[in-house]
Amino acid sequence: MRIVVLAGGIGGARFLRGLKQAAPEADITVIGNTGDDIHLFGLKVCPDLDTVMYTLGGGINEEQGWGRTDESFRVKEELAAYGVGPEWFGLGDRDFATHIVRTQMLSAGYPLSAVTEALCTRWNPGVRLLPMSDDRVETHVAITSDDGERKVIHFQEYWVKLRASVAAEAIVPVGADQAKPAPGVLEAIAEADVIVFPPSNPVVSVGTILAVPGIREAIAEAGVPVVGLSPIVGNAPVRGMADKVLAAIGVPATAAAVAAHYGSGLLDGWLVDTVDAGAVGEVEAAGIRCRAVPLLMTDTDATAEMARQALALAGEVRA
Ligand code: GDP
Ligand code: CA
Repeated sequence: MRIVVLAGGIGGARFLRGLKQAAPEADITVIGNTGDDIHLFGLKVCPDLDTVMYTLGGGINEEQGWGRTDESFRVKEELAAYGVGPEWFGLGDRDFATHIVRTQMLSAGYPLSAVTEALCTRWNPGVRLLPMSDDRVETHVAITSDDGERKVIHFQEYWVKLRASVAAEAIVPVGADQAKPAPGVLEAIAEADVIVFPPSNPVVSVGTILAVPGIREAIAEAGVPVVGLSPIVGNAPVRGMADKVLAAIGVPATAAAVAAHYGSGLLDGWLVDTVDAGAVGEVEAAGIRCRAVPLLMTDTDATAEMARQALALAGEVRA
């Protein structure tokens, strides 16, 4: 079975760990969000690709959900001693090595997809990890600052520095409209038996991937079941601040509203948590098959059960 998963960072990565356990024989291709990418200290940092790679490769800091295990921050301290920031982005010493290797390869002319493949030869994530695009895409967020000035900042500044503490007025995946899907992305979608939207952020993770021209169309036309799992449980994100970016696009933070936002043109099936069982009728009325099952990724076994439910739902909508 060939499975394609559109993944952001933590939610996508943790789901993939469960999916691998649930479907050990499956051939899994991950299309990773690169809209979170940022240049720091002259280095290209790809937080979502790295979170998937480290999580599946056994190098992730489990408590945090991002960054390396057994990490230290000497380089960051030394940079701060020079007065060189930003200090709000946590880059550890081990993590720095990944960004140095990536930047060196990009400077030598390799596309991001080839660089990601090279990095994965060390981590053996057990999936084929593709960036959504080799072209530069950076999500920006429009806000009104304290002095009443409207400005546009990088997504990481909004998310990590400001902790989404002010309203996001617009979300713009800068460069997406000019970006091309990375080699292998459209082919993987066309050859998939099932396409899964994990419980990743619907706006700045899955939404950004879908903003690359050709990807949404390829999924809609693939003619195979497309199923998703709600990142919203009990009218709030399970972790993080997805409600802030949903508000920016006028979508309420509910499991049903997120399903309606993807729409029946894209989505065939949607899993909501058991606490949201009351939303099943609304989702089905919108033309999307819906089931309520436990959706908390408390451990890999629980996550594997979520993945089994998603694959079962895919089987149902196919029939
Ligand atoms: P990010 O790039 O690190 O923000 O990660 P993603 O975009 O992949 O996923 C973020 C989303 O995962 C958030 O909106 C969370 O609500 C969701 N999430 C995290 N843990 C869980 C969980 O255990 N269950 C569900 N259903 N969603 C989760
Ligand atoms: Ca992310």
